[in-house]
Amino acid sequence: MTKYIVVAGGVISGVGKGVTSASIGKILQEYGYKVTAIKIDPYLNYDAGTMRPTEHGEVWVTDDGGEIDQDLGNYERFLQIHIPKRNNITSGQVYKTVIDKERKGEYLGKTVQFIPHIPQEIERRIKESAKGFDFAIIEIGGTIGDHENVPFLFAMKRLERELGKENMVYFLVSYFPIPGHMGEMKSKPTQQAIRMLSENGILPDFVICRARKPLDDIRKKKIELYGNISSSYVISEPDIDTIYRIPLDLEKENLGLKLLSEFRIKLKKQPDFKEWKKLVKRIAEPKHRVKIAMICKYADIGDFSLKDSYISVNESLLHAGASIDAGVDISWIDAKTLTDKQTTKEALKDFDGILVPGGFGSSGVEGKINAVQYAREHKVPYLGLCYGMQLAVVEYARNVAKLEGANTTENQKKTPHPVIDILPTQKAILEKSDYGGTMRLGAYAATLKKNSRVYKLYKESGRLEKDNEQFESLKHDKNNKFRLGKLVKEDTVLERHRHRYEVNPEFVEKMEQRGIIFSGHHIRDDDTKLMEFIELPDHPYFIATQAHPEFKSALGSPAPLFFGFVKAALQRKS
Ligand code: GLN
Repeated sequence: MTKYIVVAGGVISGVGKGVTSASIGKILQEYGYKVTAIKIDPYLNYDAGTMRPTEHGEVWVTDDGGEIDQDLGNYERFLQIHIPKRNNITSGQVYKTVIDKERKGEYLGKTVQFIPHIPQEIERRIKESAKGFDFAIIEIGGTIGDHENVPFLFAMKRLERELGKENMVYFLVSYFPIPGHMGEMKSKPTQQAIRMLSENGILPDFVICRARKPLDDIRKKKIELYGNISSSYVISEPDIDTIYRIPLDLEKENLGLKLLSEFRIKLKKQPDFKEWKKLVKRIAEPKHRVKIAMICKYADIGDFSLKDSYISVNESLLHAGASIDAGVDISWIDAKTLTDKQTTKEALKDFDGILVPGGFGSSGVEGKINAVQYAREHKVPYLGLCYGMQLAVVEYARNVAKLEGANTTENQKKTPHPVIDILPTQKAILEKSDYGGTMRLGAYAATLKKNSRVYKLYKESGRLEKDNEQFESLKHDKNNKFRLGKLVKEDTVLERHRHRYEVNPEFVEKMEQRGIIFSGHHIRDDDTKLMEFIELPDHPYFIATQAHPEFKSALGSPAPLFFGFVKAALQRKS
């Protein structure tokens, strides 16, 4: 039977519940257990797809086409698992299901009420996501005391009543401020958070103490005394240099064994953190350093939200760097400032690599194209992601294939050479689908050209699908089978997508004659060919993809294109 770990946050939001949950998962995995994670977002949006990245951070995309909360990204980056969209439960989804059921008459004339129908639906969803796993970690978004958390906490108690307390463990991740004028760490806000949680019938089994500094014994005892929680279950989690150190720090306090003993079970295997420790050390004290320029649109919102808007790309660069002992210093450059060749050169001349990430709309597009041109002409390693590939195609069309005024129709509707466009057949298919918008979302298979650079990178990292079980399971999943399209099994990769526009097939041959290689494509069941990868053969590293490989990168398993990119940047530097 699945055992459940519920993680709630106290005192302030943004306390680090997500990485704490992921770290607990990592520890349990090391002890030999099969772990999944579920994120509950109490907001009424159905999913995170419609939220501005500067409002809620980046939108995370799942294999099955979900646009969900970025915390799910942390789980995947720590646990190296693929989490489906149903593992992100929002109030919007819960209410919609209940109301839809009511409209269909499925409640048989009963009064449909907040209690019990809403917690019932929450519980149903949780159980479905947890099926087949030893442990399911449930992270409850928001902060204890928020009105919107109540139905979820109620649902947890229901679940506990049904399964027995021996199958449920509660964590409170709380914050201990050190007010500047006192210089002393205060435990009172956490005591109050414990009390608020207990008003919902839940006494936390563990308190994870986030603070600028480690928690001393005096404060642990205080929590024991006033919160009625054994001080050995009060675990310190101070600020650190890298989030990937958290599992190691929690293990220093023997969290894994304490947790298992709470569930009255033993470890399945001896944990081995050797490899993880090595990578963490490389992140903290890398032998080499490279400088990467990320050319982006959301650069003018201020440092805090900015980083969150590109978190998966940032982390993928870090994973790639860790695998070759290189620290990656990222500068986020506002595309709008790259107004011409001269300013672009001035801004980019000191970087070892240039990256254009995904984006939407026309803001800053010409600046991004200038950056691509600079990278191509000056042989600076280039990695383009989604929009970063489309704009690389535009640049090549304009400046090498001499298709004057070439553009994406997203940027200019009436361009004479729409090298990137919405394909008519694609549009029809997408509009017919039930998924809401017209985006191509989630994993799609691409067949790679055998002797391309992209092929080599995927092969070397063991990511060709013939080596993966995911590929096999997709074949039997009737809702997602279409993601494979028509393909040659051996040379195929699966990457996640989130876009509307495509390379216009009418221009492919003409462009290829001028040297660019389209090194991978998806073939839809109706034979439409969608371009997935490009590369330039006479360049140290110029690779771009229509997909978002940053959604499939983990510490210890970097995404192949990021790995190649950071390696090329390091080579250029030395
Ligand atoms: N705006 C482009 C499109 O919709 C690229 C999207 C992206 O970069 N994620 O096709």
